[in-house]
Amino acid sequence: DITNNIDTSKVGDYEVKYKVKDNGNNESLITRKVKVRNNLEPNTIYLTFDDGPRDGTTDVILDVLKEKGVKATFFVTNNGSDELIKRIVDEGHSIGIHTASHKYDIIYASVDNYFNDLELVKQRIYNLTGVETNLIRFPGGSSNTISRKYSEGIMSTLTEEVLNRGYQYYDWNIESGDSSFAMNERKLYNSVTSSLSHDKYNVILMHDTKTYTRDALSAIIDYAYSNGYKFSAITSNDMLIRQKVNN
Ligand code: ZN
Repeated sequence: DITNNIDTSKVGDYEVKYKVKDNGNNESLITRKVKVRNNLEPNTIYLTFDDGPRDGTTDVILDVLKEKGVKATFFVTNNGSDELIKRIVDEGHSIGIHTASHKYDIIYASVDNYFNDLELVKQRIYNLTGVETNLIRFPGGSSNTISRKYSEGIMSTLTEEVLNRGYQYYDWNIESGDSSFAMNERKLYNSVTSSLSHDKYNVILMHDTKTYTRDALSAIIDYAYSNGYKFSAITSNDMLIRQKVNN
């Protein structure tokens, strides 16, 4: 029986209370202090772009990031031109693996399927850039429930198995909403800027495949700078943003 008020997205000290019973059925309450610490910095924005690269959007996003002096993190697939993969790395961004196909019915059908698909992008990145990345983002995030349709319990297995194989997976704590059908440039700007917080780190899920993400990015960055935020790319030394696994 455990109660706690831990918010792992917020650095701080937390108390966890355990109710324990001994053999004589005497109940006692144990309080344990938990520190949430990490290398991610508060007041910092970690822009993360999934599903690309895509010609016509990723290239413009890279232009904007370069112009504004912002480093971001791209979780890529097998889509888009090789040139964009090279640019991501050459221009100092972090690159991670999202999976080659991004097809839930394939990647979440079995553990072997998932890793075979992962390996295709890993090789692509390595062949083009020489970078052996161990950064991962699961399609749908580690908390996705859609995978249950294809394999019961697979996220519980995969979230452990990727760590066993030397990968680190990263979720997010701010969903920009840019994959929603009702999204547009203005709404995206409002959604992201209203979610930012100075006292936590802000790991934002975005998609470099979306035209309104491309179009809103410049104004989002301007807003962040004029409100005192910093930007950073995720590295494999960073502490992790992990959601609760639900399958
Ligand atoms: Zn995705």
